[in-house]
Amino acid sequence: MILLLACTDPTGARYARPGLDSDDLVDTAAGTAWEETGAPADSADPGDTGDTSDSASSTAGPCYLGPARDHSVCLDVVPYDAAWGSDYAYPAPYGGSEQYSVPARFIDITAYSAELEIAPNFVLGEYLYDWKGQYGVMQTHVVDFMQQVRDAVGGPVAVNSGYRNPSYNASVGGAEYSRHMYGDACDIDVSDMSADALAEICDGLGADYVATYDTGHTHCDWRDHPLDPAFYDLDPAGPPPPPAARPVHTARLSRAGEAFTAPATGFDEGEPARRWTAYDADGTVLAEGEGVRFVPPARATRLRVVVGRQVVVEGEL
Ligand SMILES: [Zn+2]
Repeated sequence: MILLLACTDPTGARYARPGLDSDDLVDTAAGTAWEETGAPADSADPGDTGDTSDSASSTAGPCYLGPARDHSVCLDVVPYDAAWGSDYAYPAPYGGSEQYSVPARFIDITAYSAELEIAPNFVLGEYLYDWKGQYGVMQTHVVDFMQQVRDAVGGPVAVNSGYRNPSYNASVGGAEYSRHMYGDACDIDVSDMSADALAEICDGLGADYVATYDTGHTHCDWRDHPLDPAFYDLDPAGPPPPPAARPVHTARLSRAGEAFTAPATGFDEGEPARRWTAYDADGTVLAEGEGVRFVPPARATRLRVVVGRQVVVEGEL
């Protein structure tokens, strides 16, 4: 079986980059359920003493778009504190890239109402949730982009996941370097719109990375945009991040009897969506399908699967 790997070119030349390095530098747990929309019953943080006195050391932070679209909703931030413990144990920056720096400052969400309007159609509690971390990061420009997505959709956009602290991210099978931990990723869905259609909107509005998932949600992030100085200490004299320094995705074809699957690694959460196409020897499409498992017709001689919009795998049968 011949396998070819390629990944999405963020400039829009989708699936056009052959020869993707298949080194697996991420630890996405296969088969992990996508995260929920309600708080789990066992979400109590054993390290949380209930002491919010550190808000006394808060400093000026991000100024969000706000309901008037004038970036007038300004929040305070608190410096990272090692006493927060393992819940905030970030990995070393991926490949040394500044884009994977550990945030220096966080919003203490206990200092604000979840109903605080940080954009015309979004409130703070849609991005930061206490069971995903008392301290959170949501970069200012990401809320701007999300409002643009909402404007383009023309109706409600459900944000199922915004910020996740490292321990929560791990608990939902998030990739080791998931952008949800850096405050520039959102998992979204729209009730009457397909995940692919929503993905096209994110792409069109400058998202750096878009993936679709088996649950039907779309992950959009802005990982290549300059980090928000409200949350990050940036070194203007430092070296620029290496080009394309980002964790890679992998996927492969796996056969069990007549059925094929495409095990994948490197996605931000859960099982990516899979779009299957089976061809005959003349290159004619014999069958198409979606889902984790696919059985090609008996006459098929070639199989192609697009995994999460990010990886294409093809194999001769
Ligand atoms: Zn996501």
